[in-house]
Amino acid sequence: MEKQQFKAESKRLLEMMINSIYTQREIFLRELISNASDAIDKIYYKALTDDQLVFNKESYYIKVTVDKANRKLILSDTGIGMTREELENNLGVIAKSGSLAFKKENEAKEGHNIIGQFGVGFYSAFMVADKVEVISRALGSDEAFKWESEGAEGYTIATADKAGVGTDIIMTIKPNTEDDNYDEFLEEYRLRAIIKKYSDFIRYPIKMDMKGQRPKEGSEGEFEEYQEEQTVNSMVPIWRKNKSELTQEDYDNFYFEKRYGFDKPLKHLHISADGAVVYNAILFIPENTPFDYYTKEFEKGLELYSNGVLIMDKCGDLLPDYFSFVKGMVDSEDLSLNISRELLQHDRQLQLIAKNIKNKIKSTLQSLLKEEREKYDGFYKAFGRQLKFGVYNDYGANKDTLQDLLLFYSSKEKKQVTLEEYVSRMPEDQKYIYYAAGESIDRLEKLPQAEIVTDKGYELLYFTDDIDEFAIKMIASYKDKSFKNVSSGDLGIEADEAEKQTEEEENDNKDLFAAMKEVLGDNVSGVKASKRLKSHPVCLSSEGEVTIEMEKVLKAMPN
Ligand code: ADP
Ligand code: MG
Repeated sequence: MEKQQFKAESKRLLEMMINSIYTQREIFLRELISNASDAIDKIYYKALTDDQLVFNKESYYIKVTVDKANRKLILSDTGIGMTREELENNLGVIAKSGSLAFKKENEAKEGHNIIGQFGVGFYSAFMVADKVEVISRALGSDEAFKWESEGAEGYTIATADKAGVGTDIIMTIKPNTEDDNYDEFLEEYRLRAIIKKYSDFIRYPIKMDMKGQRPKEGSEGEFEEYQEEQTVNSMVPIWRKNKSELTQEDYDNFYFEKRYGFDKPLKHLHISADGAVVYNAILFIPENTPFDYYTKEFEKGLELYSNGVLIMDKCGDLLPDYFSFVKGMVDSEDLSLNISRELLQHDRQLQLIAKNIKNKIKSTLQSLLKEEREKYDGFYKAFGRQLKFGVYNDYGANKDTLQDLLLFYSSKEKKQVTLEEYVSRMPEDQKYIYYAAGESIDRLEKLPQAEIVTDKGYELLYFTDDIDEFAIKMIASYKDKSFKNVSSGDLGIEADEAEKQTEEEENDNKDLFAAMKEVLGDNVSGVKASKRLKSHPVCLSSEGEVTIEMEKVLKAMPN
């Protein structure tokens, strides 16, 4: 039987393409600039192997111009251009990518940085334009052609005039409607912001004529308009630069420019990984807790770039919750993008990067703890609570990653210490890691049942954060030492003698205890003689796993 080819309703297909692939309209500019950059890259690449062709850096750029009166937005490049056939094939056939073909032809060779692959980005221009004209002259040709289309109805191609090699894309921007504002795409400052956001690290200059006002010369208080051509993008991404070329200030500026925060970063990580997974990343640990950090509104994530083009603002999958305070960006060439270049399919590569990043953050925090303790204390003050949540959540699955990063206040040192420091100081006869939980250090210092432990010369950890005891229950034991709340259970200190003595006291005071229980009623489950009091007459204690402090927290939780 003869096999039939599928036919597509190309009009419908194009409409779908234009209206449903992208979630944000402003993306069209990213797509057209990426195409222009690809076009220049192709010349650059050809020049590498063709002696006749000289790549003179100054002659290659992208220019964005606005003609407000006629509602035109024009994007010009001095790239490789398109012949009549190429206009027909690349812009007349949906999902045909000349760039992908170029990449495949040149697979074996290095040097290019081409972005295109799906053959649909160009049509995103119709999200904002009623009409798109493409005037192009191909490298090595002295003829130019004009491709013109008003969207779904089709396109025409005719001969045209164009002075130099390259492509001009002339968009007639749609009129505003009640619901939609298109005028913004005729505002230089808005366009510039979009370019900055998505295309800041395109390798070739993106130029714009920016208008401004300045004091008029020779006159007081008067201003004049002026216009000046500016390069809008930074071009060289800081993360592709060599670490040795960069100063602390460069990183601080990047943090500020990217608006990761208004504070100064406490620490940065610059990663250039080229093992099983190839990526560059610049990550920051902020100095201060963002005001919304411990609220539902806070959204974790890193910026994700593919080949220097922004793909995602906040990629949450790159960070575990317990490191959600980390800011920064990741750039990788190996991501499998989906057609809109917005979302990623479940990507193994992304998972590998995330794992790699997690380990790097952990080791950075560990060395901060070892080498810059004061800084680490500051960090812990801002984000320690999140680490403790990390230990508690997922049934303690991450405790091995996190337990050595925790700090608790020590009765002995009068400052925050690590579990490792605590255990390393333990006298030989000490069986447990002792802690007391309560509202404040002040109050815990006066806790009656703490005395027997501190008198023994043992160190006591003070838990003043709700989450502390819950997190510790997940850790269960550290270096084979389990944790013991001074208010509960058998402390493992009392001698046999004391045991006997309390038994006698219990018997002698039977009536007194019974009377006390009657007065206190349901407020207590029992009144007993205690063997762990020294200078205090009475203390509260609990039996079983849930301590008094935990009970308080649980009771306060909304059901
Ligand atoms: P993609 O960039 O994924 O290939 P597009 O729809 O954005 O898909 O573009 C389709 C093709 O049109 C490109 O692969 C390229 O061959 C050609 N093209 C688009 N814009 C330009 C341009 N400014 N200069 C030269 N060729 C271009
Ligand atoms: Mg493209």
